[in-house]
Amino acid sequence: MTLPHAERVREPSHHPPRERLLRFARGEAWRTERIVMEAHLFHCDACAGIVANERVPFDDGFRTGVVKAPGSAVGVARAATAPAFDLVWRKVEARARVRWPREAAVLPPSVLAELEPAERWSWTPLWPSGTRFTVLAREPAAGTELYLVYYGKASAFPRHHHLQPEDNVILAGGYKSGVVPADGSADDQVLTGDWVLGVPGTSHSPRTGPEEECWCLSQVFVGGSKLETFHGKFQAWLDAWEARRERLR
Ligand SMILES: [Zn+2]
Repeated sequence: MTLPHAERVREPSHHPPRERLLRFARGEAWRTERIVMEAHLFHCDACAGIVANERVPFDDGFRTGVVKAPGSAVGVARAATAPAFDLVWRKVEARARVRWPREAAVLPPSVLAELEPAERWSWTPLWPSGTRFTVLAREPAAGTELYLVYYGKASAFPRHHHLQPEDNVILAGGYKSGVVPADGSADDQVLTGDWVLGVPGTSHSPRTGPEEECWCLSQVFVGGSKLETFHGKFQAWLDAWEARRERLR
């Protein structure tokens, strides 16, 4: 297994819906939604441009002040209010002390900045599919979780049916999404930076080619998808595992 670094290698060809970009720009996206959007924007100039045009200042504990830089035109500076500054500084200090798991290299800096510092992640292998995932963040108020998913060569994520939307951003490598593209073409290959939308009522089983690996960031709603393989046995196992995780939390 190779461990790629977050790197812009192409302009994505699949993008999030425009209304989602605007939600993000207005500061209305919840945390996991924001993080998955940050991952796409790292790779996508076109969407970053839309967000930059729409972004409005919102009260996040910072205030915007206009300052005159010596000898230059009027500039805009953001000054943190004292409590916000303390909070940010504590986070910076905590991050500096932590050695992130090796796999964190695939996450853009803007994504890492949104995560709680972690020295290890707990991976769940989806045997025998060749895929595994770890939970990076939870947003209980929205009922969402954020996963980092790894696909080995010639692997397939178990076929699952979407009850609720699923947002995926390819961080490195690629896979065949199993989702019919919006333009109706037969090519479902997605690559670094692409946004893959799991639409409610659809099912798919993303799969990598013989020489292809993939790292993917996914925002899912808890209970928002049902696995269809092994006559539901796998789902039962996953539900039991989820219940155990709930007890340990
Ligand atoms: Zn885009």
